[in-house]
Amino acid sequence: MSKKRFIAGAVCPACQQQDTLRWWVENEVEKVECVACHHTDTRLPKSVEDSQHVAGTASEQVIGIFKPE
Ligand SMILES: [Zn+2]
Repeated sequence: MSKKRFIAGAVCPACQQQDTLRWWVENEVEKVECVACHHTDTRLPKSVEDSQHVAGTASEQVIGIFKPE
């Protein structure tokens, strides 16, 4: 399951362009890719971490990993 989604308002740390970053989870690792310069990273830029959209998605991931018994 690797749904790639664009991150609204995010700025690429490599080429400084906005709205070019795609984000997805691969093997429970967050991956980020810039479609403009093909920069890739396994961590979200700080501006993205502050995004409420991504924070909500991360919470869902945590709930999925830690299953209550
Ligand atoms: Zn870039």
